[in-house]
Amino acid sequence: MDDKLFIALLNPAIALTLAAAFFLLWLYRRQRFHLAMVAVAYGGSAVGFLLQYFVLPVGLPVSRLLSCLSFTIAVFALAGAIIARCGRQPPWGQIGLLGAGGIAAFSWFMFVEPDLTWRVFAINFAFGGISLVVAAELRSLPERGAVKNMMIALALLSAVNFLVRPVLAMALYGPYDSYDGFYTSFYWTTAVLSHAVFSLLIALSLFTDEALAMMHKLRSESLTDPLSGLLNRRGFETRASALLEMCAPSRLPVSLVVADLDRFKALNDRHGHAAGDRVIAEFAARLRTAAGTRAIAGRLGGEEFAVLLPMADPAAARLFAEAVRTVFSAEAIDGLPPEVRATASFGIASRSGAESLAELMDRADEALYHAKRGGRDGVRVSYQHTPGPAASGVFLHTLGTGTR
Ligand code: GH3
Ligand code: MG
Ligand code: MG
Repeated sequence: MDDKLFIALLNPAIALTLAAAFFLLWLYRRQRFHLAMVAVAYGGSAVGFLLQYFVLPVGLPVSRLLSCLSFTIAVFALAGAIIARCGRQPPWGQIGLLGAGGIAAFSWFMFVEPDLTWRVFAINFAFGGISLVVAAELRSLPERGAVKNMMIALALLSAVNFLVRPVLAMALYGPYDSYDGFYTSFYWTTAVLSHAVFSLLIALSLFTDEALAMMHKLRSESLTDPLSGLLNRRGFETRASALLEMCAPSRLPVSLVVADLDRFKALNDRHGHAAGDRVIAEFAARLRTAAGTRAIAGRLGGEEFAVLLPMADPAAARLFAEAVRTVFSAEAIDGLPPEVRATASFGIASRSGAESLAELMDRADEALYHAKRGGRDGVRVSYQHTPGPAASGVFLHTLGTGTR
């Protein structure tokens, strides 16, 4: 293969590989439509480059116009994809107008007043304008992470590349009158190189963004229980321990409520496992509504739940549990005969001193056990007698726990 052909094929090869990679990513995660748009962008750029080197039977001017059109579609799709990825509606009108303006000016200087230098300016300035629109859109985002900042930097650099490089090239080596020698010119060599570098950097940022989003999703899935939508045991323990630690220095009251559905095995046996699942989901929905955003609610396993309530003393926690208990035991559950009611029992422990989550959980479980023994569909509180200063050395041994 001769070296000119090798260089000519370098950019289309990179662009086609990236188009295929983003297309595969999109096939894997169809709901992330911006990935398909990025694939289209890289595909468009590959076609654009090929049409610079190979002339179609329609002739050179039309081939170059089609190349210009492919580049414009590529820039349009990439700009839209990046802005959409950041949660914004892309300003299609603005970028469409800039793209159409570039094509119109390019056509004018191709077919009406042929001038290669102005064709170069027309298309580069249009792309520079679109890059500035992307940078402005991303800069106005309220929350910007590292990837978004990198995207802003790339959009600004790309604007400089499109707006300044052609002017410099023309000032130093121009003007270019015909395509003879154009493809070995300073302008074209820097266009090819900068395209390769920007393609790879943009792809790298988008891949990083995708990897981070995937890790975030996996992490949150690993902490969530799919049936109830609440945290699972691991998620609950992680978040609850963090909350306890946060409340410790200021000695803010914190209470733990544990709940267990009553005679759930019998309910499953009588009405089926699917009905049982619906009861679990229904109870979880009641807990979630009552817990709001400040409390931490989790399904610890089976038909057992826990809620850690910040700023709640035993009386407040009891009110919370009673509210959930009353609402839940009064409602008919979808899919169960209308007269059937499910109930739950609750145990409460409020933190005393520097109690850990495990210690709190033990006391709440004991209170729950008493609620079950007391006939179920009830709430019991574990009362902790905090030792005086003299006994602080034997804190755990002197604890007294009572429930009522
Ligand atoms: P108690 O009032 O003493 O709590 O009695 P119980 O029957 O609720 O308690 P037990 O621990 O004997 O039974 C719990 C049942 O919960 C057994 C199991 O079949 C059922 N279970 C556990 N996980 C699930 C689940 O994800 N879906 C359904 N439908 N049932 C579950
Ligand atoms: Mg149980
Ligand atoms: Mg139970």
